[in-house]
Amino acid sequence: MADSEFDLIVIGAGPGGYVAAIRAAQLGMKVACVEKEAALGGTCLRIGCIPSKALLEASAHFHEAAHSLGRFGVKVGSVELDLPAMLQHKDNVVKANTKGIDGLFKKAKIARYLGHGRLAGNGKVTVEGGGSAAETLSGKNILIATGSKVAMLPDVKVDGKTVGTSTEAIAYTEVPGHLVVIGAGAIGLELGSVWSRLGAKVTVLEFLDRILPGMDAEISAEAQRILAKQGLEFRLGTRVKSVKVEGGGSKAPAGALVECDGTEPIRCDKVLVAVGRVPNTENLGLEALGIKTDTRGRIPVDEKYATTVPGVYAIGDVIPGVMLAHKAEEEGVACVEGLAGKYGHVNYNAIPNVVYTHPEIASVGKTEEELKADGVAFKKGSFPFLANGRARAMAQTEGRVKVLADASTDRILGVHIIGPRAGELIAEAVVAMEFGASSEDIARTSHAHPTLVEALKEAALGVDGRSIHI
Ligand code: NAD
Repeated sequence: MADSEFDLIVIGAGPGGYVAAIRAAQLGMKVACVEKEAALGGTCLRIGCIPSKALLEASAHFHEAAHSLGRFGVKVGSVELDLPAMLQHKDNVVKANTKGIDGLFKKAKIARYLGHGRLAGNGKVTVEGGGSAAETLSGKNILIATGSKVAMLPDVKVDGKTVGTSTEAIAYTEVPGHLVVIGAGAIGLELGSVWSRLGAKVTVLEFLDRILPGMDAEISAEAQRILAKQGLEFRLGTRVKSVKVEGGGSKAPAGALVECDGTEPIRCDKVLVAVGRVPNTENLGLEALGIKTDTRGRIPVDEKYATTVPGVYAIGDVIPGVMLAHKAEEEGVACVEGLAGKYGHVNYNAIPNVVYTHPEIASVGKTEEELKADGVAFKKGSFPFLANGRARAMAQTEGRVKVLADASTDRILGVHIIGPRAGELIAEAVVAMEFGASSEDIARTSHAHPTLVEALKEAALGVDGRSIHI
């Protein structure tokens, strides 16, 4: 095989693309990965999940030191924020993660091409704009894993200074006096929490009459109550019409005027637009090959992630489904295992969803609303962290675990958690659902005492009305 010929060319090195590339190399394929950014890892590692988690951890430490260590008998002197050091921590974490992927690519002997990849027909991919001459690669198979970008609002111009996206909000060099967040999804709540903990007034504007659409409504309502108590101001049923940048000259620092339906105009220092994401399918050469995108710009695929063009596959945020890094990873692995003649499969009913606020919010499977809409008879067990010994020891007793099980078979249909470390606790529920467990299976499994996850066992016991500690 010539140097520029491959078994698989992956376009995009986010969690979907880089994981698929590594798995394909493990399966013996000669793999190339085309990525336009110098750092590997995609939005998630560079400007999304990983840097936001670094800031969430760091800001939680700051807030705890400033406000809540006293209850543990820990006296601290005056607590000061060193924002440059906090941002440096975030940058170090990003660097370690993206460099880590470099190392994994080298180990797997994946050929890495810097530049914009475009389908050129007949198994060809052109790579341009990476600083060296354009190149054409040939692949027996091509995998599109180009991810997504921030969705924009028609009358809101993002200037990258006063009005920005999550990319800017993970790198503010000063704590904004007043931050307006547009959109009460995961991004808005996570980054709103970061800056609120560091001292900003945060107002979250949400078009719908609830936060976290898609999550179980009871859990979302509890999340809203807890986050409001922490200082986030929510204005629901509020559609942002326009944002005007004001000041910024020598007289006044720049700020913005946010005009909305449903509430008074708001003056603020920064605006974070977090109203969703849209697939990156532009300029990929799809049209020339006859690959049509749907009304939301996504690439339709079959159960093997094949597009309508033989040899061209797509996974992750560019295809229908939730836009989550781990969903893309599972699809990438399933797709390349299929190419290697194995059986790759993704159980879409067992993909967890976590929002890393404090407390965390995590869910898997069906919500109560979905079960009701589908006419599925279910039983419900619920257990509050207030009655969990470990949560009390941690002084983190807010929230609950909710288990939904089929009324006749007892099979677990959904688990929803708001509470300390919910993002880790949900893993037990995901494994249980992968194995087709009943609530009885969790209820009869020994859980170490004292642990937070005992609340899941208790909620499972509660499905049959026999929780012990409540
Ligand atoms: P989202 O779709 O989750 O939430 C956007 C919110 O904005 C919605 O509630 C929507 O009703 C609201 N909205 C839309 N237009 C509006 C308007 N004009 N005025 C007021 N509100 C408006 O989007 P997101 O939070 O930007 O996240 C984008 C994607 O990234 C999602 O798919 C999300 O799952 C993913 N993500 C996941 C995590 C995580 O798993 N922790 C973290 C960040 C992002």
